[in-house]
Amino acid sequence: MPLYEYECASCKLIFELLKSFGCADEGICCPRCNRSARRKLSVFASFSKDSGGQTSRVAGNGSGCSSCSSSNCSTCGS
Ligand SMILES: [Zn+2]
Repeated sequence: MPLYEYECASCKLIFELLKSFGCADEGICCPRCNRSARRKLSVFASFSKDSGGQTSRVAGNGSGCSSCSSSNCSTCGS
């Protein structure tokens, strides 16, 4: 799930929440003053989405290369 950053309009507190796609803009209240907060740019804005709206990640799912233990081949170049 993407991590969204919110900023309270009242006390300027910045906080982060994990939200599902599609409900990121629902009403969020500041954890400090409990007034409405607005969403800032997503931390993961550079992540690509596939047609299903899921967040794509390069790493994971056991699809790594055989020459290193990492699942992200950018670390070994193979
Ligand atoms: Zn606040």
